[in-house]
Amino acid sequence: MSTTFALSLKTLRMSIFAGLAFIIAAGAADGQTKAPPASQEIVRAGTQPSLQGPADFFTGRVRVDPVWPANANIPAAAGLTTFEPGSRSAWHTHPRGQRLLVISGVGLTQEWGKPTQVIRPGDVVWCPPGVKHWHGAGPTTAMTHLHVTGTEPDGKNITWMEKVSDEQYNAR
Ligand code: MN
Repeated sequence: MSTTFALSLKTLRMSIFAGLAFIIAAGAADGQTKAPPASQEIVRAGTQPSLQGPADFFTGRVRVDPVWPANANIPAAAGLTTFEPGSRSAWHTHPRGQRLLVISGVGLTQEWGKPTQVIRPGDVVWCPPGVKHWHGAGPTTAMTHLHVTGTEPDGKNITWMEKVSDEQYNAR
């Protein structure tokens, strides 16, 4: 039994060496025509400063912590948005849509012409392209969500509109 095991280990080692040799040979052949692949990149925690949600686009205290920018391969920007109680975005649309994942707290979202909905941790919201909506905290509870927002090649991913009035915010 141990002989069989040793044999199969030897076979495995030979396969690995054969595979490596093939990869090295292929790399050498490609070396003349292709640029080396891009390196893995780690953006370290604590290196992306928090941003305050601008008063033109948000009501109340809102903090945005950038997570990643859009790029050509994954054309969607992500960030964590933390809404203090009563705070919310203005009405807006996204040209390529947006996904929200509620991380903590209890918040609200509303599509134009439809009732406000309560959103809780683990809820995932899809906002289709061009659909007018807002998202924010509950009246007495903060809410943090991850947003993943489809981005146009020119960098545009949101069209801001009017503020959400207190009457609109408080309607249930
Ligand atoms: Mn949105």
